[in-house]
Amino acid sequence: MTRARRLAITLRDLRDAADSLPDAVVLLDEAWRVRWFNQAAETLLGLRRGHDRGVVLSDRLHGSELAAWLRSGARVPLHDIPAPGRPGDHLDVSIQPFGRRQRMLLARDISPLTRLEQIRRDFVANVSHELRTPLTVIHGYLELLDPEDVPTLAPVLAEMRAQSKRMGQIVEDLLTLSRLETQEQVIDERVPMAAMLATVRKEAEALSQGRHRIALETETDCDLLGSPRDLHSALSNLVSNAVRYTPSGGSIIIRWQRTPEGAMYSVSDTGYGIPAGHLSRLTERFYRVSSSRSRETGGTGLGLSIVKHVLNLHQARLSVESTPGKGSTFACHFGAERLLVPESGAGDPTPG
Ligand code: ADP
Repeated sequence: MTRARRLAITLRDLRDAADSLPDAVVLLDEAWRVRWFNQAAETLLGLRRGHDRGVVLSDRLHGSELAAWLRSGARVPLHDIPAPGRPGDHLDVSIQPFGRRQRMLLARDISPLTRLEQIRRDFVANVSHELRTPLTVIHGYLELLDPEDVPTLAPVLAEMRAQSKRMGQIVEDLLTLSRLETQEQVIDERVPMAAMLATVRKEAEALSQGRHRIALETETDCDLLGSPRDLHSALSNLVSNAVRYTPSGGSIIIRWQRTPEGAMYSVSDTGYGIPAGHLSRLTERFYRVSSSRSRETGGTGLGLSIVKHVLNLHQARLSVESTPGKGSTFACHFGAERLLVPESGAGDPTPG
């Protein structure tokens, strides 16, 4: 066999191997023009052999989320976007540089995973919904029973009431999470921060019942743009955690301040703190550093999960700093596009 023939066979084998890959592969030159693509790229991205060699990929996929990402430089991998070639399917896409200023676009079909994820979400939402009515009935009857009528059962009755209340709270939190998970964006409204901060402070004081020193430090009068209900739930969750995980005599500081990237809402406490190994998992559902402490203080294990989802919907992020035995700071970082100058300073909402 001649050398040229051997090379041709190797090349054909390589091409056949790439064609049998379930993932789409597109080779791009330094100007993002298509040099070559495999069969999966035809089905997943809708490219056509004989037509699409040499075209700029973002022009070819014009109007799709993928095209916008390519045009913006495709710096970070893209997760869960609609497949341009197969409506209803979903892709994870990344760019791998190789050779001399060439790039390889890789797209993986994640539709089976997203379908499973959808089934899980629906199941949790349905179970929570189904549990709501029987729990309301049980709770209602327990409230009707007067411990004075059956003094021997008074402690049992009190425990049953507390537990049915807890179950009710878990169901409500699960329903909130389901709603937040299926929501793609929030309806933007002005969220007056002075009133919001005063409310969360009052809630902290009510929960603490004088056991902690609670301070509010407002360093900016900016308002937020977003969902008042969801933001209230996130911001008050952090305050309630600070109260619940700080022993009597400790102090809690709620801060609202500008940062180079926008603004930050933070809650610092002098409480139990969290060992470093737990920090990355705190926002998982039902993840608790100490289950007994969480239950004793009426926790559902879903609070920080809700916080994370609310912040995601506002393109904001949560950071946590904590030293065991010393205390913790939970901070929400908002981008400048979410800030509004106070109402008195301007008529319509204006970016701050
Ligand atoms: P929970 O209802 O159990 O408080 P969260 O999702 O709000 O659930 O918090 C998850 C876990 O993170 C808690 O169980 C607790 O162990 C830990 N945690 C949250 N906030 C604090 C805090 N301020 N100080 C110490 N631990 C905290």
